[in-house]
Amino acid sequence: MAETIFTKIIRKEIPAKIVYEDDLCLAFHDVQPQAPIHVLLIPKKEISSTNSISKEDQELLGHIWVLIPKIAQELEIADSGYRVVNNCGREGGQSVDHIHFHILGGRPLAWPPG
Ligand code: AMP
Repeated sequence: MAETIFTKIIRKEIPAKIVYEDDLCLAFHDVQPQAPIHVLLIPKKEISSTNSISKEDQELLGHIWVLIPKIAQELEIADSGYRVVNNCGREGGQSVDHIHFHILGGRPLAWPPG
């Protein structure tokens, strides 16, 4: 897959407000926040979208879901509640072709989403 801006963030070639990092993942504040708390959690592995997840990514995706409540706790939105969003493809609203999970909170979130 083609390299995206997220690869540059992983390599620290462009700045980001990082809230969590380990060997497999990085979480940082979204540059255009849609809620008082809006963090993106990404795997360092370049997977272009949910459509490109393969069997070998099973453990990595499990790791991501274990991290989500820990990061929410760190961001102090675990108790009030939050939303995890993965946009896939053009009509799903995906604009960066490196799989990512939006963690949104800090205000009541409307449903259904637009
Ligand atoms: P999506 O539309 O689901 O593909 O989400 C991509 C997200 O990446 C958007 O919410 C953007 O605001 C965010 N984004 C794009 N560039 C950056 C950046 N350099 N730093 C932080 N967030 C970014």
